[in-house]
Amino acid sequence: MAETFTYTFDTPVYKGSATIHTELFVNGEWVKPVDKAATIDVVNPATGKVITAVSIGSAADVDIAVAAALKAYQTSWGLKCPGTTRARLLNKLADLVEKHLDELAALEALDVGKSFYAARGGDITLVVSALRYFAGWADKIQGKTIETHEGKFAYTRREPYGVVGQIIPWNFPLVTGIAKIAPALATGNTIVLKPSELTPLTALRFADLINEAGFPPGVFNVVNGYGPTVGAAIAAHPEIRKIAFTGSTLVGRSIMRAAAESNLKSVTLELGGKSPTIIFDDADLEQAVKWASMGVFYNAGQACIAGSRIFVHEGIYDQFLEKMTQVAQGLTNATGGPFEPGTQHGPLVSQTQFDRVMGYIESGKSEGAKVHIGGVRLGNEGFFVQPTIFTDVKPEMRIIREEIFGPVAAVIKFKMEEEVIEAANNTTYGLSCMVMSQNISRALRVAHALEAGSAWINSAQEGHPAVPFGGYKQSGIGRELGEYALEAYTQVKAVHVNLGLQL
Ligand code: NAD
Repeated sequence: MAETFTYTFDTPVYKGSATIHTELFVNGEWVKPVDKAATIDVVNPATGKVITAVSIGSAADVDIAVAAALKAYQTSWGLKCPGTTRARLLNKLADLVEKHLDELAALEALDVGKSFYAARGGDITLVVSALRYFAGWADKIQGKTIETHEGKFAYTRREPYGVVGQIIPWNFPLVTGIAKIAPALATGNTIVLKPSELTPLTALRFADLINEAGFPPGVFNVVNGYGPTVGAAIAAHPEIRKIAFTGSTLVGRSIMRAAAESNLKSVTLELGGKSPTIIFDDADLEQAVKWASMGVFYNAGQACIAGSRIFVHEGIYDQFLEKMTQVAQGLTNATGGPFEPGTQHGPLVSQTQFDRVMGYIESGKSEGAKVHIGGVRLGNEGFFVQPTIFTDVKPEMRIIREEIFGPVAAVIKFKMEEEVIEAANNTTYGLSCMVMSQNISRALRVAHALEAGSAWINSAQEGHPAVPFGGYKQSGIGRELGEYALEAYTQVKAVHVNLGLQL
């Protein structure tokens, strides 16, 4: 009898319950890990209290899951399963996720600490649309015909890799998951997925929906566990032909090393960021303040694309700072748990993350930056940090160079366009950038000059399943989403055909 856990949400914004299996999902079944007693506590970030415990695996469980995924690939998925069938199953899965939208959003909110409304409208809604988008591609994976000589030609096929490994983080668990799961399944790969040990709940509920949709056993497997054990075993596994990872640059490096040393598996990395927001004096000031604030404080700043370095033209700097301070104060007043109706600012995910962010705030102060607002803990339970704005920052400070992954912005004055482009590009990262200007020529010129995989003009944090996403420099390798994701999950075979030319 598989073990389950039921959580009842009796809250002002959502009433209902969710039941999840707490074991590993392998070959379409819920199974105990090889070490049957191994579990990890799942903690509620808004209270610091334990919600439940789930099983965690080891390298031995990864072996079992990979064997199941390989068998499924060879017998019922991959080249054995027509694209139309994969499309139908993905559409069915999208319908099921949509049917359970509130329940999945509530689980994500509970586990990550983000507001229920953000989890519903931002995270799980995007999961549904990404599934539908990639369902649309599943029967359109095509090669090309290439004329070579008279009497000869070649054609290309886009074939899946086989078993792919996917490792996801805790800040947007199911969204970062679906950006990998949907294109991998659409193109015929089978999956061994490891959620973050901090936020496993939605991946477990999602696995039940995979079964309900009717995917063959072994096509999708979940092995919960720690990074250095389960994650490292996935990265080094000789039967896994491709790995996709979202997380820190530090761990991304170790994934790439393990991939190189094991079997040279293909690698896609979505890593950290230190994104610039540039606000020119011809911007719509009210809108610029709103977008810039959302761009850095959304999800309590726990976003790889957070626009944490805000460059403001000297002509509007004082006004901007005053208005952004009001926004930060408003968010402070709207701080709360995920299921309170007015919550606009939530906790950080864990004690470790809280300590890390407070450490950065201290380092900013000790290096001479000025806390304009915030810099302190809010409340006395859970992991809440006040939205914080630093001024008087210098390029060499840690708070300007390193990813903080919390609600901490630095607001910096600039004078000239060339000067701000140089300052914005002065980072090892290159994930995203934001440009606020009513002068479209300038906005485009600057967006093109910035070294980043995504640029938002007069907005921030936009994402769409049809639009590729990924980093320049040390923010990543490869692209997720859009048509580009199909390339990440297929390899090209060239077939040469001789119509009868004799040797
Ligand atoms: P993390 O790198 O600590 O962990 C990410 C995942 O990797 C987790 O599942 C973790 O268990 C696993 N892991 C840890 N050590 C591992 C190892 N040695 N081998 C294999 N797997 C291992 O990151 P995090 O703290 O969960 O997430 C925050 C980081 O993720 C930030 O740096 C953020 O910028 C980045 N992020 C990037 C994107 C993006 O798309 N670029 C999106 C979200 C988060």
